Amino acid sequence: MLFPHLLLLCAVLSTASGCSRDDARNQVRGNSDTALSSVGPGPCTLEFSYAIGTIDPRFHISRNEVRQAVEEALALWAGAVDRLDVQFHEGIRAGEQARNTILFEYDERQDQSDRARRFQDQIASKGDFIDQLHREYELEQRDLERRTGEHRRLSGRLNERIERFNSWVESVNQSGGFGEGQLGEYEEQLQAVEAKREREREMRADLDQFVASLNRRADLLNREVAFHDDMVRQFYREFGDEYRFNSALYRFDGTRGTITVYHFHNRRELKVILAHEIGHALGLGHVPDSRSIMYETIRDQMLGREIVLSAEDIRAVQALCR
Ligand SMILES: [Zn+2]
Repeated sequence: MLFPHLLLLCAVLSTASGCSRDDARNQVRGNSDTALSSVGPGPCTLEFSYAIGTIDPRFHISRNEVRQAVEEALALWAGAVDRLDVQFHEGIRAGEQARNTILFEYDERQDQSDRARRFQDQIASKGDFIDQLHREYELEQRDLERRTGEHRRLSGRLNERIERFNSWVESVNQSGGFGEGQLGEYEEQLQAVEAKREREREMRADLDQFVASLNRRADLLNREVAFHDDMVRQFYREFGDEYRFNSALYRFDGTRGTITVYHFHNRRELKVILAHEIGHALGLGHVPDSRSIMYETIRDQMLGREIVLSAEDIRAVQALCR
């Protein structure tokens, strides 16, 4: 799961103690390995031309929805190269004009997945819950920034006030000390400074409490994210065998390619399946990292909140240009 903003709180307030940012950060799984590496000499341009063939109505997916899923899958690859020229062919002769045809063939694999679908619904609603927590967290974090700014300004004013007070006391001391009349003024000023100092102390205590509660929220969020990831892992342990990329197949007859989709559980997964098969159509083979789109089975690619290319995917597609 990707939560890049979590637990950066400790740096904000030097007064907040007991922060274990490193622990927290270890739980926050980023996809830092997906940063684009630099492209070799010359712009990297690839082409993909496709048509959408027959879609079995039992998939309950429209041609437009398929097209959208294909475009989303293509966008993943497009992000890793300088240019991906996509031609979409429509109409009766589309199959002859396009280099690739995408078909949806229904078989029993699609039929036997009710339990899997229920499980995925649970995972999805857990994901919604996490999104909600994350939104609340971000709102509070913004509130914290505002309050931290206020506190910083107040502290600044307080320090200036203390400095003025001290230099006044010093100057009176140097010019012979406090006389009867100045003692009253001294008391007055001291009280004013103390009152300001007290306000600062209260504000800092409030802020510490706020940071503590925000950190508890972050912990909860991290726990929920870990739980969500466990559910996803369990899902693929239980249903993993049917989740090999034999849910779909890419065939190339020497001139034209065909991507046939047999099975998918949801749109997210369809995107991964299409991205994988399009990867083959672009000329990619399999890669060893299980989080890669081009890994031989579908599994860990579904762990993140977003479907992304791995560093291996990016290297592989960029290598096509050299
Ligand atoms: Zn494959």
